[in-house]
Amino acid sequence: MPQSYRLVRRDARGERTIVRLRGGATFGGDEIAIAAGPCGVESREQLDTAARAVAAAGANVLRGGAYKPRTSPYSFQGLGEDALKMLRESGDRYGLGVVTEVMDPRDVERVAQYADMLQIGTRNMQNFPLLREVGAMRIPVLLKRGLSATVQEWLLAAEYVLLGGNDNVVLCERGVRSFDQATRNLLDISVVPLLEEMTHLPVIVDPSHAMGIARLVPPIAVASLAAGAHGLLIEVHPDPANALSDGAQSLDCAAFERLMRRLEPVAAFTGRRLPKRYPASPVSDDSAASPDSAVRSSKRGVKLA
Ligand code: PEP
Ligand code: MN
Repeated sequence: MPQSYRLVRRDARGERTIVRLRGGATFGGDEIAIAAGPCGVESREQLDTAARAVAAAGANVLRGGAYKPRTSPYSFQGLGEDALKMLRESGDRYGLGVVTEVMDPRDVERVAQYADMLQIGTRNMQNFPLLREVGAMRIPVLLKRGLSATVQEWLLAAEYVLLGGNDNVVLCERGVRSFDQATRNLLDISVVPLLEEMTHLPVIVDPSHAMGIARLVPPIAVASLAAGAHGLLIEVHPDPANALSDGAQSLDCAAFERLMRRLEPVAAFTGRRLPKRYPASPVSDDSAASPDSAVRSSKRGVKLA
């Protein structure tokens, strides 16, 4: 093990790290974290429909991109701060933590005002100024593996964040570039047990970006939990055929619900459990009529279960 793994190495601390999100989701403990939602936040209605469905199916974290890293500058770039506000509102309404990507060090503080966890995307795994910026904060960080990053490069990227004093890092395997284009990326499921040996940080899997094909997501989600992943990141869209990004790999709400039922025995098999399900309807009748009052209720600390 290289000397340079000072803080991330398995024996750098006495126990495994459990990353806790405001709102209750945990990564690394007995309860699995399920982060689900659209690739990009496209509208209030799209996001809220997805949030309601994933919460009802048993997810405990809402995902959705506000700042999208797109290969083409002409593709949908995300709705920016408007999307952050929508994420916060829908997250609060359905009792979900919020994870969203930050690409630019100048946006870190703003994104952290709304989100419970900052995602560093695959294209930014070695954006060192960004890693230092999130390292200076205490908010949880979801660090995706770089497009063709080695395990060593990935762990050293995590080391940057821990070195800044932020221990709340979760690693996310999302597939790497390969010679084969049969799937979008090549999922390296071997890193799940490997990283369990190498680091005290929790590891989750994103089968959506790994596969790029929605029908392949459920079996790979099952395999990821069976291999010991502490959580999953799954793209869910109410209408995948019309999604502005990553529709081909997005589950619709019904498919996500079926997947969650399929995951129950798998979680039990690994000695873990899925998050508790939230009810399909929001906090109370009056909050259902007025989304804003639902947000206020949850801020007052009304339990959303
Ligand atoms: C995403 O989560 O939508 C995303 C862009 O992921 P990645 O960085 O893994 O491509
Ligand atoms: Mn995506």
